[in-house]
Amino acid sequence: MMKLFDAHCHLQDPKIISKTQQLIKTAQDRGVVFFAVNGVCEQDWDSVKQLSETHPSVVPCFGLHPWYVAERSPNWFKTLKEYFDSTPSAAVGEIGVDKGSHGKKIDFSEQVEVLRQQLELAKELNKPASVHCVRAFGDLLELMKTIGPFPAGVILHSYLGSAEMVPEFSKLGAYFSFSGFLMSLKANKAKKMLKMVSSDRILLETDAPDALPKSNIDSLLFVEGDTSLVEELHRQRTTSSSTSDLSPADSPQVFTDASMLPKETLNHPANILNVLDYVASMLEITKEELAELSYQNAVRLFSYEGSKVLQK
Ligand SMILES: [Zn+2]
Repeated sequence: MMKLFDAHCHLQDPKIISKTQQLIKTAQDRGVVFFAVNGVCEQDWDSVKQLSETHPSVVPCFGLHPWYVAERSPNWFKTLKEYFDSTPSAAVGEIGVDKGSHGKKIDFSEQVEVLRQQLELAKELNKPASVHCVRAFGDLLELMKTIGPFPAGVILHSYLGSAEMVPEFSKLGAYFSFSGFLMSLKANKAKKMLKMVSSDRILLETDAPDALPKSNIDSLLFVEGDTSLVEELHRQRTTSSSTSDLSPADSPQVFTDASMLPKETLNHPANILNVLDYVASMLEITKEELAELSYQNAVRLFSYEGSKVLQK
């Protein structure tokens, strides 16, 4: 079986935490060996730590995500450093900058300052850092230039930046991690960008429970009890049966592709196989080749001192 490494996900998310045991098992049965589980705010670092203590496959990551910058406590950085002291197996993440529809509500200079502190910490601890960046790639690059290079690696998670910036980020030590969000780019743009990434810097991730791949519904796994999904399935089934006398051209689109699902539909960590499929097709290589090279890249990156990945 192909081995896979989910380089970025949020299995501590309150929406799925009660089902994590089952989600991990199902993903493991499909080949996922490790899950890099990223905390996003002071309130969830403890859940990440606990998951890591219960599951040998969970690589804990601690960080303050840009969306939570405004509500950070005065002690947040001290607390963060204490988590690293008590959890040598941890990496840094999720950190970043965001000028998207949500991020633009949060003071940008504070976002940059919080990111700067955490990038410096990652560098000092010699650990990789998982970075979120939305519409701020120029700012991120400038900041990384002033602090970097990053010999322990920086993961540009769910990378949707330009092809042109790939070499500049690579020079500083970046890896490029791809999730279901890649399917929101036009195929020719995605292809051009992917081909700029050297094969020793490609990673795969789910970002679960976010980033449901826009794949054929039949090829996806869903999270049991996801209410948004149940309602939508019901609505679609009702609609399509009542309009069965229409010609196919008049029929509402039937439920074949996940882009028609509500955007809150939860992503299952086993859907990394759909990301694998898509990225391999864009790169025109086999799934097996991509699984192997992305797994080896992630193992190398996450083999810092104290890491669980080292011991396997
Ligand atoms: Zn994330």
